[in-house]
Amino acid sequence: MNFQYLHPADQIVMIMERIYNSGMTTTSGGNLSVMDNEGVMWITPSGVDKGSLKREDIMRVYPDGRIEGRHKPSVEYPFHSSIYKKRPDLRAVLHAHPPALVALTLVRQNPEPYLLPNTSIDCGQVEMAPYALPGSAKLGDNISAVFEKGMNVAMMENHGVVLGAQSLFEAFTMFEALDYSARLQIKALQLGPYRTLTPEQMAVYKQKNVPHLKEYRADEPTSGELELRRELCELIKRAYRNGLFSSSQGTFSTRVDGDNFIITPYGKDRMYLEPQDLVRIENGMVELDKKPSRATKFHMEIYKQHPDVNSIIMAYPPNIMAFAVTDEEFDARLIPESYIALKTVRKFPFGASISDPAKLAAEMTLKNPVAIEENDMLIVVGTSPLNAFDRLEVAEYSAKSVISTKRMRDIVKISPDEIKEIEVAFNL
Ligand SMILES: [Zn+2]
Repeated sequence: MNFQYLHPADQIVMIMERIYNSGMTTTSGGNLSVMDNEGVMWITPSGVDKGSLKREDIMRVYPDGRIEGRHKPSVEYPFHSSIYKKRPDLRAVLHAHPPALVALTLVRQNPEPYLLPNTSIDCGQVEMAPYALPGSAKLGDNISAVFEKGMNVAMMENHGVVLGAQSLFEAFTMFEALDYSARLQIKALQLGPYRTLTPEQMAVYKQKNVPHLKEYRADEPTSGELELRRELCELIKRAYRNGLFSSSQGTFSTRVDGDNFIITPYGKDRMYLEPQDLVRIENGMVELDKKPSRATKFHMEIYKQHPDVNSIIMAYPPNIMAFAVTDEEFDARLIPESYIALKTVRKFPFGASISDPAKLAAEMTLKNPVAIEENDMLIVVGTSPLNAFDRLEVAEYSAKSVISTKRMRDIVKISPDEIKEIEVAFNL
């Protein structure tokens, strides 16, 4: 999938579909725009079902203000326009109402950027824009004032979030990371105070690069390897659909033969991953012209030390990660199915898989197949890709059950006058 060669109308349809299908906006809420290089703004229409948007529904606004298309542009057109005016460097604007981010705007809290290293790098700085009537010029002013300071994300009081980026896909991945941070933060708050990453820990994480391995030209894959590639891709897409992986996060590998294995590539969209995108590692070398996951050396160590482990997953689903950012222990013994699948889930300090991968790899056995690395990830090993995937699901769903037993803090309401203003403006 080469996003930059998609027409702006198709980009908008595709990204809106992904946002809607992952529960990050409602049928009437949320709007997207793309500024093309001739200064034409392509924007979602007002009052059209976001679950079944077509390319013909996308509206065009020309630099002279002329509007073309079969509907009216989004009611939030004023703030899209004022953001582009203040920030000509931005080429895409995304606005939506994902429940977790809306929850944070109700309690006037910004998403915590330093819970996990990945999300802090993806989201950048965030600021809250004061409340104003949806669709009003005032709301446009409040939001564009945040963008004018150089920030690319504005939270909107009692409303939602707006992001700007160089491309719509970039805006979408930032949005996904931000929504993820909000979900994680809410889950963590239900367990107790959470731990944030220190600048020193962030520096350790930044050392984690795509490994420099010698390249080799791979032979044509055997039928057995092709089968494993197919199975892994199906499970990766399923993990994406079920919210266990995000578009750019989540590592999955499986042993092919000996200590050789296939692993997810670095930086490729998990939703469209195809068998040829997976990277084969053979005798410590990497398939020619491919970029394997940054965790490749850690996977290599696990396969080398444990011949009975045939598959490894590293993931960041928000419920189990709430245990990774708090001091709360995850007790799998609360639920028999969890205990059978997960055994004793242990926690290891942040950076363990980076500073000494061989040492942490020694701990990843089938006897204790699941571990949490604090403020970073869940690590799962299994006898097959499906066995590892099942453990990932059991861990996340069991964590969700435990967290569902806790509660959150008070919300902040908008004023009676502001409600009146809505009633007048929208004839309620
Ligand atoms: Zn809105």
